[in-house]
Amino acid sequence: MEFLNGVHVIETYATTTLVIDDRLVLVDTSADADGGKILDYLAKIKVKPKDLSTIFITHTHPDHVSGLASIKKNSPAKVAAHRIEADFISRKKTWDGPPGPQRHTPTPVDVSLDDGQMHDGLRVIFTPGHTRGSMSLLDETRSLLIAGDAANNESGLRSMDDRYNIDPKQHRESIKKLATLHFDHAIFGHGEPIKGEASAKFAELAKRL
Ligand SMILES: [Zn+2]
Ligand SMILES: [Zn+2]
Repeated sequence: MEFLNGVHVIETYATTTLVIDDRLVLVDTSADADGGKILDYLAKIKVKPKDLSTIFITHTHPDHVSGLASIKKNSPAKVAAHRIEADFISRKKTWDGPPGPQRHTPTPVDVSLDDGQMHDGLRVIFTPGHTRGSMSLLDETRSLLIAGDAANNESGLRSMDDRYNIDPKQHRESIKKLATLHFDHAIFGHGEPIKGEASAKFAELAKRL
């Protein structure tokens, strides 16, 4: 569904986000190894995978990275991830955290990102703790945070279940970091997006952590 003008939220167990401006950007790639739901959605709105410029991966969990290899097959898009997460996506390093051994097809990361960096229209906010190199992305033009799994909005805004966090304390510090930013809207890997006054909800949550 089109959540904001030019921002599509594609429900694929973990949310995939498509941002359309003068460029086409995908954030995360679903749990499906064939990327089927994403490719179907793109076809429906007449977006060609070969026109994507960047595929951002917020973190290397299977519900965010599994479709990457399939989508890359039809696309010259550059894969972008935080520097620390890159080696887990390419599987140069073995992931040692929950939910266990990785099964996704190894895919090289073309662009290694650092905290605060701007890339293809989105600002990198490093939010480790869920995984070692998790990141969120800020679309400053739309005042939109694409949180990834830095927080969860399945039954109100809260931290992710600690069974899936490699470092629960660091995960909470990352939520507190997000709470210092201003953004109106937020999209989550899991749970409904928030339209309006989103950063106020993060500030409330940060106080409770
Ligand atoms: Zn997830
Ligand atoms: Zn995750």
